[in-house]
Amino acid sequence: MSAKRVLIVGGGSAGWSAAAYLNAALNRDGERTAEIALLESPDAPRIGVGEATIPNINHILSVIGIDEREFMTTVDATFKQSIRYVNWLENRGEFYHHPFSRYRRSPVDNSSRDWLMSDRSIPFMETVSVQPMICELGLAPKALNGASFGEPLVYAFHMNALRFADYLCEHSKERGVTHYLDHMVDVEMADNGHIAAVVTQTGLRIEADLFIDSTGFSALLIEKKLGVGFTDCSQWLMCDRATTMHVPYEHHYPGYVRPYTSATALSAGWVWEIPLQNARSLGYVHSSAFIDDEQADRELRLFEGSHADGLPARIVQFRVGLRQKAWAGNCIAIGLAGGFIEPLESTGLYLSHLASVMLAEHFPYDGDMAALAMRFNRIMANRYYEILDFINMHYCLTRRTDTPFWREVQRPERITDRLKAKLEYWRTKPPSRSDFEDQFFPGFPDCPLASGGLPGDHRSPVDTAGLWGHESYEAILYGMNWLDAECAEWFGASRPPTRVSRHLVDKLGSAPRMLPPHDAWLKHAVGMAAYARA
Ligand SMILES: Cc1cc2nc3c(=O)[nH]c(=O)nc-3n(C[C@H](O)[C@H](O)[C@H](O)COP(=O)(O)OP(=O)(O)OC[C@H]3O[C@@H](n4cnc5c(N)ncnc54)[C@H](O)[C@@H]3O)c2cc1C
Repeated sequence: MSAKRVLIVGGGSAGWSAAAYLNAALNRDGERTAEIALLESPDAPRIGVGEATIPNINHILSVIGIDEREFMTTVDATFKQSIRYVNWLENRGEFYHHPFSRYRRSPVDNSSRDWLMSDRSIPFMETVSVQPMICELGLAPKALNGASFGEPLVYAFHMNALRFADYLCEHSKERGVTHYLDHMVDVEMADNGHIAAVVTQTGLRIEADLFIDSTGFSALLIEKKLGVGFTDCSQWLMCDRATTMHVPYEHHYPGYVRPYTSATALSAGWVWEIPLQNARSLGYVHSSAFIDDEQADRELRLFEGSHADGLPARIVQFRVGLRQKAWAGNCIAIGLAGGFIEPLESTGLYLSHLASVMLAEHFPYDGDMAALAMRFNRIMANRYYEILDFINMHYCLTRRTDTPFWREVQRPERITDRLKAKLEYWRTKPPSRSDFEDQFFPGFPDCPLASGGLPGDHRSPVDTAGLWGHESYEAILYGMNWLDAECAEWFGASRPPTRVSRHLVDKLGSAPRMLPPHDAWLKHAVGMAAYARA
C-alpha cells in the first residue's frame, strides 16, 4: 500500500504539532504510512499568544521524541503545576488552586463528603493535594538530583508558542517532513467534492490525499472553501478579545518564577499571568460588550503596575465555538480553524493535539472516509462541549455583583443546560467517577448533534470526562465555596474542624528539603539566565 499524501496548510503551533505528531505516530519502524508536507505563508502571521499547556503535552513530546530539557531550553519553558484563580468569587483578594495532582484515600475516597460536612476552615484542595502549597512556596515539581518526592507531582509547561512551532519545524524537517514557505492563493476541487490540490503564490500546485486546515481563525479550507459552518458559543462564554503584553525580566524581574498560571478576575473578564524563563506574559481576556479596547488597556496596566509603562500591548480578537464538522470530505481542521474555547484552562494546544492524536488513530487505509470522519467529529465535538461546560462553571458560580459583566455571567441563560443538569445532580451528592460512566445526567437536554449525518445518530453531546473528571470539577466547585450555605443548613452550625491527613502533612513538611525553588531548578537544569530582582 502506498503512503497517503498529507498536506498541512498553516505553520502555527497547531500545524507543526500535527506534522511532528503524525510523522512520528504513522511512520514507525521503517514503515511509511504518510508522506507529510506543510505549507506555511511567509506573510500571514501566527497567533503566538497561547503559552500555558496541560499535562497531555508530555504524551505529545514523548511520541514526537523530544527531550524534556532540550525542549525547555529551546522554548523558554517553565513548569506549570496549577492554575491559581484570584477574585473570581467575591473580588476580595480570595483565591483557590486547580492543581494537576491529587491524592485519593483508600479503600473509599470520602474526602469531599468529609470536607462538605466540616467547618471548611482549610480550603478543599489543600486537604487532598500538596500542590497548592508547593505552588505557594514557589517550588519546582521535581528535585535537581532526580530524587523522588514519592507520588509524582504532575506538571505541564508554560512556553513561548512561536518558538515551539519553530522547534517542531526543524525537528520535523530533519525527520522527512517537506516544508513549503509560500502563500496559498487557490484551492482546486475534485469531482467527488474533495480537495484535489492547493495552488501557491509562486505557482506551485500541491496535490494530496488528505488536507489539514491549520490556517488559524481564517479557516481557509474548511470554511472559506468547503463552507462548513461554525457553532457559536458566545451565549455561554462572553469574552471575545485579549489585550496582551510581555514584561521582559530585563525590564522587571519580580525575583521568582511562579510554578503555576494565575488567572485574576478583573472588571470584564480576567487576566492571565504566565511566567517564562525570560519574561512574563500577560493577557486581559475580556468581553467587548462590556469594555472597550482603551479601557481594557488601562485596566491591564493598572493591574500590572508602573513597570508596564511604555510596554507595547497587542489586541487579539477571537470567537468561541467549534466547527460543525472538523473533518469534511478529505479536509480536517486542526487548531484554531477547528474551533476555540477561551484560554482559561489552557485548552487551545490541547485540542489541536487531541485532533492530531485522533487523526492518527482514525487514519484511513483507503477509499471511503465517511465513517472515520463521523467518529472523529463526534469525539472532537464531545470534547469541545465538555470544555465549554467546565469553563462556563468558573463564571456562573461567581457571587460578584460589582460590575455589569459579573452580574451578566451568572444569569440562568448564560449557563449551559448540560452544566445546569450536572450542578443540580451534584446537590444530591458530591461528584464522583461513576457520574461520567454512562455519560448522562438527569435533566440533560435532548439536543441532537450533527456529527456526520449517519442514520441513528441523534445523541446529545456527551461528557466522557475525557479531560476533566469529578476531581477537577470539585477543585472549581469547592474553590468557589459552592453549597456553603446549604451545608451549614444540612449539617448544622457546630461542624467538626476540617482535617488534613498525616500523609499530606508529612509530604508538605518534606517538600522544602526535597524540592528546589522553581527558578533555581530552571537556572541549574535548563540554563535560565540570572536577572536582578526589580
Ligand atoms: C487570546 C488567546 C490566548 C490563548 N492562550 C492559550 C494558552 O494559554 N494555551 C493554549 O494551549 N492555547 C492558547 N491559545 C490557543 C493557541 O494560541 C492556538 O491553539 C495555537 O496558537 C494554534 O494556532 P494555529 O496554529 O491554529 O493558528 P495560527 O497560529 O494563527 O497559525 C496559522 C498559520 O496559517 C498560516 N496561513 C494563513 N493563511 C495562509 C495562506 N494563505 N497560505 C499558507 N499559510 C497560511 C499562517 O502563516 C500561520 O502559519 C490561545 C489563543 C488565543 C486567541
